[in-house]
Amino acid sequence: MRNELICAGEKTYYYAGLYKIGVYKTDETNVCLIDAGIDEEIAIKLDRLIEEKGWRVSLIINTHYHADHCGGNYYFQKKYNCKIYASKMNAALISNYDICPAIVWGATPLTVLLDHYYYTKSTIAEDIEGKELPEGLSLINLPGHAISMIGVRTEDEVIFLGDALVGVDTLKKEKITYIYEIGDYLSSLDKVEKLSAKLFIPYHSEPVRDIRELVRINRENVMNNLKRIKAICKTPRHFDDIVREFFNDVDMELTLYKYNVKGGIIKTYLTYLHNTGQMETECMDNYLMWQTIG
Ligand SMILES: [Zn+2]
Repeated sequence: MRNELICAGEKTYYYAGLYKIGVYKTDETNVCLIDAGIDEEIAIKLDRLIEEKGWRVSLIINTHYHADHCGGNYYFQKKYNCKIYASKMNAALISNYDICPAIVWGATPLTVLLDHYYYTKSTIAEDIEGKELPEGLSLINLPGHAISMIGVRTEDEVIFLGDALVGVDTLKKEKITYIYEIGDYLSSLDKVEKLSAKLFIPYHSEPVRDIRELVRINRENVMNNLKRIKAICKTPRHFDDIVREFFNDVDMELTLYKYNVKGGIIKTYLTYLHNTGQMETECMDNYLMWQTIG
């Protein structure tokens, strides 16, 4: 991964490290970041590159509240007193980070799980709706990966996609990636497929000029996981049994951390199947059993 800023248009740059952070020039000296990296270490690396150019950060737009996107907020807000904008729900979460880990775990989170992917300091973020955006920026609603996630388009025809989709390498390694709501996620993929731009920048993979192939691969991954979970639940299964079978199927080894994150994603899939009438539940011998309908 390169520690450098790549120029993607007259005003648009991106950080070419592990996280593809957008850097958009709003005038001669000020920049707006699109997401902010996972932690202070990344923030400092990016800030050095920004300082070398003689720029300063006056605004951060967070695509969503996940810590790998807003973990750098604290450093930048402290140093530049910059504003932070996100969609209403995400602004509320970024400003009150203590509640965020509970979204996946479904209860007060286990302290041992609170690493920098999962927890960060709260920063003061505001609802982006009604705010005047820097000239040349517009927003694209892309819910699904996270509630009310947004993408950002720049006037150089570059689109920062947040986590609307992931790269091929990630899918090969992870098999099942984080989604908050499957129906929204699939609709957002359909939307992304129809967007036109000179460059598409997913946060976790290399930028591409044509996004359609990556959309197809991500959609296929979701469909395969839906099929896999429906097949597992052909006979009534309780949740831990489904997790076990899924992990066996895709050759992953369970850990507490994976149980939390991947287990949460499997629950998201089960919820989607239940909400769309493809799955039912029944209590048997004090187990909650999930069974595919039809
Ligand atoms: Zn992410």
